[in-house]
Amino acid sequence: MSNAFSNVNRYFAKAAQVLALSPETAEQLMTPFRELRVECSIRMDDGKIRTFVGYRVQHDNARGPFKGGLRYSPDVDIDEVRALASLMTWKTAVVGIPFGGAKGGICVDPAQLSSGELERLTRRFVQGIHLVIGDNVDIPAPDVNTNAQVMAWFMDEYNKFHGFHPGVVTGKPVDMFGSLGRDEATGRGVMIATEEYLRTQDKKISDATFVVQGFGNVGSHSARLFHERGGKVVAIGDHTASYYDPEGINIPAALAWVKDRKILAGWTGAPSISRDDILYQECDVLVPAALGGIITAENAGRLKCKVIVEGANGPTTPEADDILHARGVVILPDIYANAGGVTVSYFEWVQNIQQFYWEETRVRSELERIMRRAFADLYSTAQSHHIDLRTAAFVVAIQRVAKATAQRGI
Ligand code: NAD
Repeated sequence: MSNAFSNVNRYFAKAAQVLALSPETAEQLMTPFRELRVECSIRMDDGKIRTFVGYRVQHDNARGPFKGGLRYSPDVDIDEVRALASLMTWKTAVVGIPFGGAKGGICVDPAQLSSGELERLTRRFVQGIHLVIGDNVDIPAPDVNTNAQVMAWFMDEYNKFHGFHPGVVTGKPVDMFGSLGRDEATGRGVMIATEEYLRTQDKKISDATFVVQGFGNVGSHSARLFHERGGKVVAIGDHTASYYDPEGINIPAALAWVKDRKILAGWTGAPSISRDDILYQECDVLVPAALGGIITAENAGRLKCKVIVEGANGPTTPEADDILHARGVVILPDIYANAGGVTVSYFEWVQNIQQFYWEETRVRSELERIMRRAFADLYSTAQSHHIDLRTAAFVVAIQRVAKATAQRGI
């Protein structure tokens, strides 16, 4: 994601114009509250010392404690973390959960580290940031290349400094104060968002065809839920392989293949196509659920879908967004479409604070309620202002954050 922060701010500016937001309010809302950069030096298994750089950007907390994931990737830099922190502010506001926005990351390729090295790195990062996080201050969560185990180490290290505070991170293992239903939450949210949009067209999931790029957490659960509801998933793919079958792919078989192997490469259950051609297959709904910045001005003209549901964060550049809008392709934006994850993170935090744990059916029905209510808000905003759904989502979010900021005062 190049210039990721300026991309988010372009979407922000478009919505600010609709709202006739004053320049000083716009500047106040766009500027991150705090940015922390920490040295993380650890001893490697071979006895050598290596130093990594970690970041935590706290964008806004007018509506509640900062909230946002933690990613481990060689692409992590301050610009990307700042952009993703800002997206979290708008995401929590658009679904109306009482959090602000933050994001963190460490510039590291975790595939090159042993489990012990990853644990030491995570603990070292917590030592660097523990004074500015907490269950009422800033609550991290998993993101790209971090998982429930990383969150368990995170919680354990934080608790050494501050005592028992399970709510300091979400996305923890279910046996260690996590929530049932968190694993599938983003995919389930993608499915509900799609269902809500199709309803406006008098259609159901079982009437539509789907292409899903990415077969990790978000992509695989989205594909499974479309399939379970009778939708025809005609193409799936990950970083190792892509498949297309106009008759529909056997999703349970693909899920069984990746269960232990993690990657699709080697699966022979459907005809394979070249990896990046997945974006250009004909379908009703395309779900990018892998990387940011993959739908660009260069390829937007070649997409053959009617609707894009953004499972990934920032998959569409602003230039591509304009091209697709002109072509009549409808986009359900990331800040709404993939908000199911942070919504169930919110439920996990509520359960941690109350020390009262919910059944999975309750998690699902509360998630559904929140996703459907948020869709109604953004759809009616789009209709009344004659704007696209992304601009509408930013309008709804900015209005809520601006109101809270004004009510708090300087
Ligand atoms: P993941 O690591 O579980 O899965 C990522 C998938 O993308 C993998 O299948 C990987 O093979 C695939 N991929 C990577 N490079 C690719 C390429 N060049 N072409 C095709 N596929 C490629 O990650 P995830 O948690 O599913 O997250 C995916 C996206 O969704 C990210 O942008 C993330 O920020 C966003 N997101 C995730 C959550 C969540 O709860 N997990 C919530 C909101 C947003």
